[in-house]
Amino acid sequence: MVKSIYVGPKELQGIEKTSANHLIVWSGDLDEESWQDLQKLGLNLSIALNFLDKGEDRCVLDPEIQSRFFRNLEFALQLHPQEVWIDRFRFGGDCTGISDADAKLAHQECPFCQGKNRTLELIKLVETIKRKIAGRSKFGLFTIAFKDDESAKLGEVLGLDYQRLGQIVDIFSPMLYHRMLGKSESYISEYTSWLAERCSKPVLPIIQIKDMPDDLEDKMTEDDIKAATLEAVKPPSSGVSVFWWHHALEKNKAGIVSKLLASI
Ligand SMILES: [Zn+2]
Repeated sequence: MVKSIYVGPKELQGIEKTSANHLIVWSGDLDEESWQDLQKLGLNLSIALNFLDKGEDRCVLDPEIQSRFFRNLEFALQLHPQEVWIDRFRFGGDCTGISDADAKLAHQECPFCQGKNRTLELIKLVETIKRKIAGRSKFGLFTIAFKDDESAKLGEVLGLDYQRLGQIVDIFSPMLYHRMLGKSESYISEYTSWLAERCSKPVLPIIQIKDMPDDLEDKMTEDDIKAATLEAVKPPSSGVSVFWWHHALEKNKAGIVSKLLASI
């Protein structure tokens, strides 16, 4: 069972007291010194890399964006993480909607992607990433928790085809922030099962532990977090990933997260 926490590399207070056996380390503040500190924890370590940054309305086919990503990828791979997790990898990194009505949030056509089939372009890019990883780490992908067979329009504009991506990517982490998505806890296990079948690869759901976005009052209780965790670990899930330690520290929920990870 993977018990994972998404962490900032310099915000690790109390992490050693949890029963986590896996960390997903945000690459933003990561340097070799903090990686060495992380290694002392004796946990499985992986690295999360943004393809597009938050709020960045750029095209994934923009050569400048691709060069930046491949530089970051190479830096990450030199640290030998168990997995590299690619985040915000779609046409419209900020779109996290799950229905066809959210298609308007996707990236608007630009000179780089004009007239191109977005799904095919992303597949080509994923193949290139896989070649560059060259077996040095596993290839993980953070994904939006929508069903691309039901919301085909959204899949098309974002360029996401989970069945085909599953032929290349090694492991998926759908962002099952169910309260943000307006769904009940049961959606976490239901969706995890659906995606595991769709992509034929291991699925590690990542769940929220506070109400998001930040300007929302946090009404998520210990019982709510427990219910989400129990849904997340139901088969065929690989385990659970907690988003993120910063929220646990901010909302005084480190003890709750520790207790829950110890109980599963
Ligand atoms: Zn474009």
